[in-house]
Amino acid sequence: TASLADLDPVIAQALDRELARERAGLEMIASENHAPVAVMQAQGSVLTNKYAEGYPGRRYYGGCEVVDVVETLAIERAKELFGAAFANVQPHSGAQANAAAMHALIQPGDTILGLDLAHGGHLTHGMRLNFSGRLYEVAAYHVRDGHVDMDEVQELARRHRPRLIIAGWSAHTRTIDAAAFREIADEVGAFLLVDMSHFAGLVAAGLHPSPVPHAHVVTTTTHKTLGGPRGGLILSNDPSTAKKINSAVFPGQQGGPLEHVIAAKAVALGIASTEEFRDRQRRTLAGARILAERLSAGDCAAAGIVLVSGGTDVHLVLVDLRDCALDGKSAEARLESIGITVNRNAVPDDPRPPMVTSGLRIGTPALATRGFGDHAFREVADVIATTLIASDGAELSSLARRVSELALAHPLYPGLTPLGAAS
Ligand code: PLP
Repeated sequence: TASLADLDPVIAQALDRELARERAGLEMIASENHAPVAVMQAQGSVLTNKYAEGYPGRRYYGGCEVVDVVETLAIERAKELFGAAFANVQPHSGAQANAAAMHALIQPGDTILGLDLAHGGHLTHGMRLNFSGRLYEVAAYHVRDGHVDMDEVQELARRHRPRLIIAGWSAHTRTIDAAAFREIADEVGAFLLVDMSHFAGLVAAGLHPSPVPHAHVVTTTTHKTLGGPRGGLILSNDPSTAKKINSAVFPGQQGGPLEHVIAAKAVALGIASTEEFRDRQRRTLAGARILAERLSAGDCAAAGIVLVSGGTDVHLVLVDLRDCALDGKSAEARLESIGITVNRNAVPDDPRPPMVTSGLRIGTPALATRGFGDHAFREVADVIATTLIASDGAELSSLARRVSELALAHPLYPGLTPLGAAS
């Protein structure tokens, strides 16, 4: 019965520090967002207590009448939002959604074809140390001149005859041509998996072409642009894969589903069907374009700063620092020092090592959630550009003040009170 602050003040204080950190700074990691309070309430609910192996109406445990209602709602909302005939809302994460999709569609030893990690792909698309690289033979396509090289995709597909082609990425700024991928997949008899983890919120808002009509299976995380709890989701319109996916998730990959997280996914999917959410996604896109324009201005070009692919169609920009004295690691640290959190990221054909990199990935979803519009995005874009080209530390303190002013003008979780553990 004791509160967290009384029972475990050390953890309570850490949580309060995180709330203060998120409030004081500007979160621009492209894969992050601020989940609404309602989502966090569902996630912090009594449903964490419940075992519910199986699926609604077919459980291996008693007492599942409430979780059945919740999980069915989550499934129905996911299907409706994305126009899919089938949804599985149980994957604990994006990585597990991908593992389950692969488990459902292909066998160990089969070949997969995905975007090279160093060119913006994800670990689960065939990285050597990941399950995907250990269980499957891997061929990888690349980004050339800022765009996914579809000629290479076709050439590699013909050469390697993969059983699965994966489209979707973690650090690339152009929309996916899912129809073109499907044509190549059909030609070589492969399944097409589109991993829309990064841009699912844009798809939900109708601001990015939907991959659902083209792919055999679509996977996504629920916590990036979609703005829900940390978790995964699998969709399909292909009737032959639905049953295989359910059994690949449970019992194939997981035991008991996280029904508290599934409740939070249902809440987030409900929010994602609203006009307010669409407005937020519009501001997300507008913010990324404003950032791209500012980082393409003459003062940036003169400092050797350019953008991979020259701009963006999505919620992020990828800054190419290969011709800049500043490397990705130092640029990340410099922005962190003024209160803007981003992550360094390899750019295609990066000469610097992976722990340093020549790139920065900067995203706008969390700031759009916080209420940023064009004016505020223009200010943050100017702060970022000025920080990257700044030549002395004195300038940084005035930039930090501008960041604080933006944070104060866009209060985060205004109704949330700290847990207030005594120290
Ligand atoms: N797929 C893509 C394209 C991603 O960018 C990510 C996360 O960064 C994932 C999958 C994995 O998601 P999670 O971190 O929830 O396992």
